[in-house]
Amino acid sequence: MMKSSELRQSFLSYFESKQHQIVESSSLVPGNDPTLLFTNAGMVQFKDVFLGEDIRPYSRATTSQRCVRAGGKHNDLENVGYTARHHTFFEMLGNFSFGDYFKKDAIHYAWEFLTVVLKLPTEKLLVTVYAEDDEAFDIWNKDIGLPVEKIIRIGDNKGGRYQSDNFWAMGDTGPCGPCSEVFYDHGEHIWGGPPGSPEEDGDRFIEIWNVVFMQFNRSADGTMAPLPKPSVDTGMGLERIAAILQGVHSNYEIDLFQNLIKAAAQVVGTQDLSAQSLRVIADHIRSCSFMIVDGVIPSNEGRGYVLRRIIRRAIRHGNKLGQKGVFFHKLVDALDSEMGEAYPELTKLKERVASILLKEEEQFAKTLDQGMKILEEAISELGDQKIIPGETVFKLYDTYGFPADLTNDVARENDLEIDEAGFAVAMDAQRARARSASNFSMDMSSGVKLDSVTEFTGYENLDGACVVEMILVD
Ligand code: ATP
Ligand code: MG
Ligand code: MG
Ligand code: MG
Repeated sequence: MMKSSELRQSFLSYFESKQHQIVESSSLVPGNDPTLLFTNAGMVQFKDVFLGEDIRPYSRATTSQRCVRAGGKHNDLENVGYTARHHTFFEMLGNFSFGDYFKKDAIHYAWEFLTVVLKLPTEKLLVTVYAEDDEAFDIWNKDIGLPVEKIIRIGDNKGGRYQSDNFWAMGDTGPCGPCSEVFYDHGEHIWGGPPGSPEEDGDRFIEIWNVVFMQFNRSADGTMAPLPKPSVDTGMGLERIAAILQGVHSNYEIDLFQNLIKAAAQVVGTQDLSAQSLRVIADHIRSCSFMIVDGVIPSNEGRGYVLRRIIRRAIRHGNKLGQKGVFFHKLVDALDSEMGEAYPELTKLKERVASILLKEEEQFAKTLDQGMKILEEAISELGDQKIIPGETVFKLYDTYGFPADLTNDVARENDLEIDEAGFAVAMDAQRARARSASNFSMDMSSGVKLDSVTEFTGYENLDGACVVEMILVD
């Protein structure tokens, strides 16, 4: 059985043998990109190289990049615990060509790595290409020898939750281009259909590798300018390919996750290893710890607020399994055992990570129980109603520190929804009150001290759209 760590090494070595420079994973906090909340793909650290604004001493690179998708264009927070394949934090294995090779070699490398190095059975693989990309279609069909029924043409995303989209973009602006993706068929016993079919949201056919032919730079007005040189950017989820090699279906069944889930069960004090909440906690300890390693600290705005929201979700899931005391920070050691070798910065900072998590746990513990009681009461009073009123969501947020997405998480478990519009109205009203209070304070002569000041901060709401949030600080 191939361990995740061996797989990571095997990938890097293969591409090194093809003259690729092995480059370290960059930070989860993008170095020079205010358009992006977190590094969400391997190409992020090479964005300027694709744009021709940064020149490297190599034209081929390979990485194992730590990624977070918990906000912005790529947001998988709501998928965690519900699908077999999504995490908030994952590792993306990638190979890159900066104006060097293009479609033909990129496809050949991907196929050789999967079928010769990893020895995946070819009959379980199928691929997608961008609808108009005859060149990629022909490479798969004529050069690789894949039968036409295994090559699916997909256009732009027409909506839907996970709908395939064979035009990849890092965000609303930046490098982008048509792509070709490799899928693995986990078998008839799992619900789901091939990409492009109405049942593709299922987890039978799991996307493992995205090979992007970087050709354009999209600007804010939507126009696409050609890149200086056609390039290649690929990304394969380490956890997804590990699952295949370890003969399991879900990412959460691989070695690394099983160990984290066992550790989580122990600190939470439960015997039921199949509990959905344990998967969520195991996922969240990775994203939260690595965000802190990369310098993010819990706060009420921007990246720090994403971190705080994920920590609070994890704590709520522990609480749901009956753990009323602090537990989350205790998982840092288990995480370090799994990932410290690949990421020595985690080992170096693990005490700091644990102490920041502990502080957050202690702070939220004060209001979590009370807030949950209020939420449960509100739910029991709903009767036939399926929507938790915005006022309740706001009260939980404002008084008990429940981010709206946390309340929504509880709602979903009860087949309910939250009134997002009503929540926004309550938020606006509070904002207006605060604004008049702060105008008032500006009119006051010096020497008068208000007991609280108000800050306005933007953060990503449930849909990733930007809403204004107001926080009272003393
Ligand atoms: P999906 O359709 O399954 O959500 P995606 O199309 O959003 O995946 P890409 O943006 O193409 O993913 O990223 C490249 C690869 O990274 C994917 O093929 C997959 O192997 C991996 N990947 C993407 N998102 C996640 C995630 N949330 N957790 C784990 N692996 C992921
Ligand atoms: Mg996705
Ligand atoms: Mg996809
Ligand atoms: Mg994809």
